This record gives sequence, structure tokens and C-alpha cells, in this order.
Amino acid sequence: MNTELQQETMVHDVELPNACAACGGPLAARFTPGSARGVCLACRAISAMTVSRAGDGLQIVQEPGGEA
Ligand SMILES: [Zn+2]
Repeated sequence: MNTELQQETMVHDVELPNACAACGGPLAARFTPGSARGVCLACRAISAMTVSRAGDGLQIVQEPGGEA
């Protein structure tokens, strides 16, 4: 078993419309195991997010003050 290879395949890029906390613009989010980071396409604000499984889908929670 190669755990590192499995983690590599779990990285996903998703665009979230109207998800920017700063300007309400589209957020380009990259999901990695256990965490996620979003970059606004409009104002380039970076926000850290926490992803948890909720039923059949994913629940995304933005963490205030998560600037990089
Ligand atoms: Zn923005």
C-alpha cells in the first residue's frame, strides 16, 4: 500500500460561485485531505476552509483569519 499516492489522488480543485467572504466573488478552492484553501478569482483573497462530510455531500466552513 502506498499511502502517499492515495493522498495525491484526493486533491480536488473546485470553483465555488459567490463564496468569497470578502467580496462575494467566485472562489477557486483546492481540497486536500483534511483541509481546503480557497483563492478568490475577483479580489484574490485567500481563505482557509475546513471540509467535513455531511450526509451525501461535503460541508465547507470558511475559517476567518486564515490568511496565508
Ligand atoms: Zn473576493
